[in-house]
Amino acid sequence: MLGVPYDEQSSFARGSAKAPPLIRAAWRSGSTNKYSEDLTLIDDSVLWDAGDLAFVPGDDPVALIEREVGDLMGKGFSPMCLGGDHSITYPIVRAVARRHRHLNILHFDAHPDLYEEYEGNRLSHACPFARIMEEGHVDRLVQIGVRSATPHQKEQADRHGVELVEMRSWGGAVSFEFEGPVYVSFDVDGLDPAFAPGVSHRQPGGLSTRQAIDVIQSFKGRLEGADIVEFNPDFDIPGMTDAVCAKVMKELASRMVHP
Ligand code: MN
Ligand code: MN
Repeated sequence: MLGVPYDEQSSFARGSAKAPPLIRAAWRSGSTNKYSEDLTLIDDSVLWDAGDLAFVPGDDPVALIEREVGDLMGKGFSPMCLGGDHSITYPIVRAVARRHRHLNILHFDAHPDLYEEYEGNRLSHACPFARIMEEGHVDRLVQIGVRSATPHQKEQADRHGVELVEMRSWGGAVSFEFEGPVYVSFDVDGLDPAFAPGVSHRQPGGLSTRQAIDVIQSFKGRLEGADIVEFNPDFDIPGMTDAVCAKVMKELASRMVHP
C-alpha cells in the first residue's frame, strides 16, 4: 500500500491529496474487521504499508511515482496505490507494464479520461488513459461506469480500441474475462455519488458499491496491481467515502492474494 498524495493535475478541485491517511484510518478502524467478504484476513502482513510518497518541489512527479512503484515491485510487492487524482495512474501503469507484458486494465470511472489534452495539459487527470494507450502499455483497456463521455473521447476510445461499457447499456450482472495480468484502476466517481459523495466530479447515475464489488469479485484474471483514486475528502460526508475506499481496497487485496 503506497499513498500517492498528489492532486496537482486536477482540473476542477484539489483535495484528493488528503485521501491516503483517511483510507488507511478507515481500513484500521475498530468499526469493522479486516476480513474481505471471502474471509481473507487483510491485515498488515498482506497489505504492507509503504507510507506516502514525498513530493519535493522541483521533482518530476511522473518520474518519482514510476520509480517508486517500480522499486516496490522489484522487492516483490504488488502495488496498491492510494491517490491522489487520476493522473497518477499513467506513471503507475508504466511501472507495472514493464514487469507484466500483455497487461489488461479494468477501469472504473464516470469518465473515460481519454482526452488528448485537457485545457492544454497532456498530464491532466482527464488524460491518463490516452497516454497509456498511445504508448502501447496494455493489450486491453475495459472501462466501466462511464456516463460522461464526449464525442472527442468516443473518437479516442475507437482510435485506441478501448472497450467502453457505459452505464446506459449496463445490463445488470456483468463479468469480465482477461487473459494474463490485470491492473484495476478504481476512480471513486465511477460509483454513484449517493454511495460515494466524496469526489470532485459528482456524476449521478453510476454504479452502486455492491455492483462494483461484484465486478471485482467475479472478473477472471490475475490481479497484479491496483489504484483507488479521486476520493476528495473536502466533498465528503465525514466517514462515508473513506469507508467505501477501504472496503474496495480489502476486496482488491483479496483478489491479489487469491490469483
Ligand atoms: Mn478518472
Ligand atoms: Mn472520474
